[in-house]
Order: sequence, then structure tokens, then C-alpha cells
Amino acid sequence: MCGVVGVALPPGSGTEAAAVAATGLFALQHRGQESAGLAVSDGAEIFLYKDLGMVAQVLDERRLPSLRGDLAIAHCRYSTTGSTIWENAQPTFRLGPRRAVAIGHNGNLVNTRELLDQLEGGRARLAASTDTELLTTLLADEPAADTVQALLQLLPRVRGAYSLVVLDRGRIIGIRDPHGFRPLVLGRIPEVATGASDAAPWALDGARDGWVLTSETTALDILGAEFVRDVEAGEMVILESGREPRSVRFAPADPALCVFEMIYFARPDSYMEGRNLYEVRRRMGEQLAGEHPADADLVMPVPDTGGPAAAGYAEASGLPFREGLVRNRYTGRTFIQPSQTMRHRGVTLKLNPLREVVRGKRLTVVDDSIVRGTTTKQIVALLRRAGATEVHVRISAPPIFHPCFYGIDTQIATELIAATSSVEEIREFIGADSLGYLSIAGVLAALELPYDRFCFACFDGRYPEPVPYDSERRKFMLEEAVPARG
Ligand code: SF4
Repeated sequence: MCGVVGVALPPGSGTEAAAVAATGLFALQHRGQESAGLAVSDGAEIFLYKDLGMVAQVLDERRLPSLRGDLAIAHCRYSTTGSTIWENAQPTFRLGPRRAVAIGHNGNLVNTRELLDQLEGGRARLAASTDTELLTTLLADEPAADTVQALLQLLPRVRGAYSLVVLDRGRIIGIRDPHGFRPLVLGRIPEVATGASDAAPWALDGARDGWVLTSETTALDILGAEFVRDVEAGEMVILESGREPRSVRFAPADPALCVFEMIYFARPDSYMEGRNLYEVRRRMGEQLAGEHPADADLVMPVPDTGGPAAAGYAEASGLPFREGLVRNRYTGRTFIQPSQTMRHRGVTLKLNPLREVVRGKRLTVVDDSIVRGTTTKQIVALLRRAGATEVHVRISAPPIFHPCFYGIDTQIATELIAATSSVEEIREFIGADSLGYLSIAGVLAALELPYDRFCFACFDGRYPEPVPYDSERRKFMLEEAVPARG
């Protein structure tokens, strides 16, 4: 996944772009918890700060004041290429013969090997083992004097998923790949003559508008910014301090937004494709109740992400809705953590059953996905230990049969339980009394949008952007490029 933010404030606004970008990044913490970072330009120099850890750990108040400037980009990382090491944290930075650039990237490229062959000097030049480092180095090397011209030369050679915020000394450029796999939106911090208020905490004290690029609309809400529009697939939006944004199209749009953004990844208070994601997920629950009813006493979500679908399931089925699991809010999302061992330990740290609610009850438990099955198995066992008499699992998405190469870390098909097991075998593995998945038709009915606007590849194997035959295990393909440490 990953979250990105770009902020351009007018000159002399009296507000530091770094603080605005860091605040926006807090709203995107769910998109990546491995590292966080900021790059800031004061028009003459680019300053960079990044580290491993959560946004609040990395971008704290002691560090922000030293990052001065009207332009800032920020990034939180969930790894899909390269290990969780400091070098791989973003934004990446490169000083080339014609430009200094920093990049924050959400997505995953599918022709990294081809691009590496185009890099003069090869792997040895890379300071990190991510596709973003490679992209940044290629961009810094481009001979065109202007960064937008350099991007127009480079991007036609780049394939895969990329929602980017690119910073040079004088601009931020927001870019969405021609399929728009990952979201990116444009927002405006309005001019407010009287200065900051509760409604617009970053109001610009009589200056002109500020502009924000971000992965999700929820970051705009937190900044008191207005949603302007989605950055379109195949579009660049150029932000310069004190100027209206400019748009440059670099490829025809062939939209295929990741449908999992709608089902699970993005926050429920975000809007995508003009839809509020809480409402979309609630309707998925309604559809699920129609497709897979359960003879049970109550409906409960797996917190937090199963909540909207469980509410919809309860409404449509007429069963009471109860919270039966309490989530420890201060641990990460289990799916997002990088290793199987950490995922395994995560769920026990994270969820605790409400014995009074579940004891002696037949439960319908609603969640939004089963990836490897281990988390669901632990939840079912947890509920049985707490006294549930039956556990019926309902999933508000279809089974994940195929790996993702566009920015979600399910690159190995054998790790996906649905790729190797039937629904009945999965039910047996997780220890549930029954198991039902929402169909693709059910997802589309809830979205109220046509199939061809989305990528459904992990459900039906129809990849909008061809993936190379050796795609599996590509996550660490640039690893040998990382110089030895210490
Ligand atoms: S393959 Fe699945 S997770 Fe990946 S972009 Fe497509 S729908 Fe999203």
C-alpha cells in the first residue's frame, strides 16, 4: 500500500509545509507502518528526514522545525519491493547532473528488471533495494533540463502501479499511472483572511490558497482542506508555490482502481470514485447476507475493518449487531506487518473477546478478507475459547486466488489459502461451522459501478497490466544492490 502526501503552500504563508504534510500523513498511517519520512524544499535546497517506525515516532515535534520550506512531500511505507531497512524508507532522494529529486511512491512496478537494464552503471549505483530508488535514479539521470519534461521521457518506459509525489527544488508533481491502480486526490487549503481556525487549522493567514495531494480524502479532512478532484489515471498535476495547479496528461487513461481499496485498504471515512467507503462496505454486507444467510444469534465484526460490512449484514438479515471482539488500538494491522511470524503474533496482541457477548451464542463473524487464513483461524479459536457455540464466518470479498503485483504484498500464490484450497477446506482449516464469501457480482452491486473501472485480478486473474512470467519472489530482486552496512 503506502501513503503519500504533497503540500505546496504560497510563499510567506507563515506555515511550514513539513508540519502540514506530517499531519496529513497521520491520517494515512493505516496504509503503511514500517517507516515514515518527509522531504522539504525551500526553493534552493531539499531537506530529507526518514526513519523506520510509525509516523508519530519518526516525524515528531523536535524534528519538524528544522525542515523549513513551502513545499513538502511525505510517505509512510508498507513494503512490496525490498526489505524493511532504513535505506528503503521513503521519500527517496537523488542529486543528478540536472536536478535534485525526492519521490514518495505508492504502488509497485512490474518491469523493474527492464528498468534496471536501462540504468547506467547498473545496480551498484542504487543506495536502496526498492523500485522507487531505481525510479528516482533514472529520473535524476534524465537529460531534459525540466523535471516535467524528464518525466515525460521516463514514464512511458515505466509499467505497473505508481501514485507518486515527486519533489524538485521548485515543484511538487503528483502522478497516477495510466491504470490509476492506487488512489491520489487533489485538495485545496482555502485562503482565510483571519488566519487559522478550528475548521481550517492550516489557514494561510491572508495568503493565497495552498494545495495538497494525498492518497485518501480523509487526510484532506484532517487538514481542513477541500476535496477538488481525483488525479486522473495517466495524469500529472503540478503544484508550485503560490500558483494554481497545472495538469499534464502523459498517457491515455485506462482506469483499473484496485477494488481492494474499496473493500478493505482505504479508511471508511474516505471517498473514492465519488463513493463513501463506509457506505460501500455496508452495502457489501447487505449483499453478503443475501448470498450467504446464517442461522445465528448475532452478527459481529472483526474489528476494525469488518465493522461496516457487519452492520450491513445485520440490517439485511435482521440479526442483532454486537461487538464481540475488542481491538487494542495501539498495535498495527496484522496484514500489513511484513513477516509471517509477526503476523502470527499480531493477532493475539490485537484482539480480545468480550466473553459476556459471545458465551453460549451462535455467532456470525464478518471480516473483509482471508489472505493466508492464519488470522481467521486464530479468531475462530479465540471465540470458541470464550464460549461461542457456533462460529459462522462471512467474508465481504471473494476468495483471493491470485497474487497482486501492483502494490500489495501477496506476491506468492502459494501463500494464498484460496489458491490451494477449496472453500470447504478453508472452512475446515479455520475451524468455522460455515464459511461464505461475497461474489464478484455482489461486490459490483455494492459499488454501483461497472466492472471495467476496477482491477479485480486477485479474484479473477485478469491483470490489467501484464506481469512478467518471473514475477513471483520479485520483492527482493534488488536486494543485492544494497551496499553492506557498517
Ligand atoms: S490484484 Fe487485487 S490487490 Fe492487486 S491491485 Fe488488483 S484488485 Fe488490488
